[in-house]
Amino acid sequence: MTQRLVLVINCGSSSIKFALRREADGKPLMSGIAERLGSGQASLSWRAANTQQEITLADGAHATAMTALMPLIKQHADQPLSAVGHRVVHGGEHFTQAQQIDASVLDAIQANAALAPLHNPANLTGIHAAMRVFPDVAHVAVFDTAFHQSMPAHAYRYALPEALYQQHAIRRYGFHGTSHQYVTDQASKLTGRQPEEGAWLSAHLGNGCSTCAVLNGRSMDTSMGLTPLEGLVMGTRSGDVDPNLHAHLQRTLGWDLVRIEQLLNRESGLLGLSGLTNDMRQLEEAAAQGHAGAILAIEVFCYRLARSLFSMCAALPRLDGLLFTGGIGENSAKVRARTLAHMAAIGLKLDHHANDNAPRGVATAIHAQGSPMIWVIPTDEERQIAQESLALLDH
Ligand code: ADP
Repeated sequence: MTQRLVLVINCGSSSIKFALRREADGKPLMSGIAERLGSGQASLSWRAANTQQEITLADGAHATAMTALMPLIKQHADQPLSAVGHRVVHGGEHFTQAQQIDASVLDAIQANAALAPLHNPANLTGIHAAMRVFPDVAHVAVFDTAFHQSMPAHAYRYALPEALYQQHAIRRYGFHGTSHQYVTDQASKLTGRQPEEGAWLSAHLGNGCSTCAVLNGRSMDTSMGLTPLEGLVMGTRSGDVDPNLHAHLQRTLGWDLVRIEQLLNRESGLLGLSGLTNDMRQLEEAAAQGHAGAILAIEVFCYRLARSLFSMCAALPRLDGLLFTGGIGENSAKVRARTLAHMAAIGLKLDHHANDNAPRGVATAIHAQGSPMIWVIPTDEERQIAQESLALLDH
């Protein structure tokens, strides 16, 4: 059977990440990034097989980058594209699964822009540019929020007046759905369960971080909320703080909302705690040399992660296993060990040798005998987007 080709596009405000994938193949045929869009130094770089190349873009417009992509796709595709899969951050309550993009889907993504002002407009720019360049291909939107639409009301509602939910859609949505879905699916397969069977805790730890409780393929709760700021300590995001912090900063320091948003989204998290960097690898190096801020940042990160995982257990009838993914989750044996050190109360125990020697890029079990399972599972959001795009066209 010939394998269909999918172009996956993740369009942000200043970058477009892309990957050309063959159905069911692990590695992309070609992948790359257009960066620094909107500036005079925009560039497009990509890798395919053993080659890596970069060109500068004449101007920094998204449409220019997308047009430059066209000949690259043609060059590397040995058959026509079957779909273009677009990552869209916020699908609100409209979308519980991927959607083929038409005028009404575009309107709904636009309507959700109020909930994700940094992300949805950029996603839309990418969709419009790609539809112009690839007009004859099916375009599919895959939403970060869709997987979490299965959460029950007691998990997604804030304890706020009903009208704010009914009239203004203020509730918890959750993000990283594509990743949580992918790794829990992989875990079910790897452990010989039926597709989607299992009671899993998933920790996606990258620059953004979230936990998720997944029961039989359905998200039951997750740590992010209305926006991707709620929950865990992240690279530059604070995660949970006292909701009165805004008022306190305004009263005591005279800070306005723009300043406070900047503080909580860009100056906090690992960066704020350490006073050094948002990058976990660098923090680990600094901590090894005794940097007090780096040591504290890692400790707070791990403790808060453990606390969040405990709270996610409330959403599950039992625990089959805990999954670590994302740049930190996949690569930092230290973060996994420090987090598990706080979790003995539910019997989770690491095999330290397996944890320390987990190979890069390969799903690996790292639990001790008698413990619920603990796995490191590399995420692949692009692969999930490609699969969901094709599955939608098959219906
Ligand atoms: P994004 O959310 O931008 O996709 P990633 O999933 O790539 O981010 O995760 C980036 C984070 O992973 C950074 O904090 C980086 O330092 C961390 N990381 C990557 N490799 C390692 C490693 N070997 N040890 C510790 N942290 C690592």
